[in-house]
Amino acid sequence: MAELSERMRALVQPHLAGIEPYDPNFTPTRINLSANENTYPLPEGVREAIDAALAETPLNRYPDPMSNELRAELAARHGVDPACICVGNGGDELLFNFLLAFGGEGRTLLNCPPCFSEYEFFASLTKTGVRNVWRDRKTFAIDEKRMLDAARDADVVIVTSPNNPTGDVAQPGFIAQLCRVCPGLVMVDEAYIEFADAGTSVQNLLAACPNLVILHTLSKAFGEAGIRCGYVIAAPDIIDVFGAVRQIYSVNVLTQAAALAAVRVRDAFAPVVERIRSERERVAMALEAYDWVDVWPSQGNFLLMHVREASSIREQLRDDYSILVRDFSAAPGLNDCLRITIGTPEENDALLEALAELLDDDA
Ligand SMILES: *Cc1c(COP(=O)(O)O)cnc(C)c1O
Repeated sequence: MAELSERMRALVQPHLAGIEPYDPNFTPTRINLSANENTYPLPEGVREAIDAALAETPLNRYPDPMSNELRAELAARHGVDPACICVGNGGDELLFNFLLAFGGEGRTLLNCPPCFSEYEFFASLTKTGVRNVWRDRKTFAIDEKRMLDAARDADVVIVTSPNNPTGDVAQPGFIAQLCRVCPGLVMVDEAYIEFADAGTSVQNLLAACPNLVILHTLSKAFGEAGIRCGYVIAAPDIIDVFGAVRQIYSVNVLTQAAALAAVRVRDAFAPVVERIRSERERVAMALEAYDWVDVWPSQGNFLLMHVREASSIREQLRDDYSILVRDFSAAPGLNDCLRITIGTPEENDALLEALAELLDDDA
């Protein structure tokens, strides 16, 4: 693992001394199923709408700090007041700002791993303490009872639904209880909610739970990971804090214009999402046919699979087939696990064919 130079270890803030420089060792591959992006072509007309919006965007003016036009469109889509929305430079910026504002020294984030590793990373950058309540080792079900106990003295709680990388969803009833017992804020990260069954979102808890924050992104279902746009929905006084701590111009004019154009034609993505959901079930069934592969049920656009020699399988997929998937085998609780993004039918077939060869060799 890369580390900071000795000189830098002495100069950075002490709590950052163990940080690892970002490893740009990125291998371009023929098929990339490693980052849960939407690999389908944009629905007809969407790219044209975005290009037209970009073409008429002046570049000499600073962006509207709160992205008000986009905010109003998102608010209309979700049936909430625009004052309940803050837009960010990707969901990641909002996660960081959430911990910056509500975490910090002497505060605790309640986390239920295995989940998105950025939560713990941002907690470490902001000196927020982390209390981990691990999911069931086998099923990855949330330990609701221990979470509820721990939430009583948590300052911030984050629950991912559907969870990355395990694919399961949190029950709205459980989230409502969490909000009730937690004196701080509860964030539900719904980055993958569009891929989940109807009725999974906790959005209709917002009225009853004034300490609930819901995170969304355009990076997954809406196929715009490159434009960097996410948003939170929460009570207006919470949104005021998000508005106050953010770098005022973090959402640039091109992102605002592209996101607005895309959100206006959001319904065009429904068939793509349906296709990804059905491909997910097809790929899951194909993988389950192998005795030595375990696949967890998923409500996201990805599947977590357990396979012997996961790291070696991942390397062979990359080097011999030019297919990239995410290796989680070094992550705590995810021994020998790979996460595969559901791609187009052709990409999924290529992956299944490659795995058939690799897993047969293995037998
Ligand atoms: C991808 C992802 C996000 C947000 O991604 P951005 O591209 O920064 O919007 C947030 N949470 C989870 C769990 C994710 O997987």
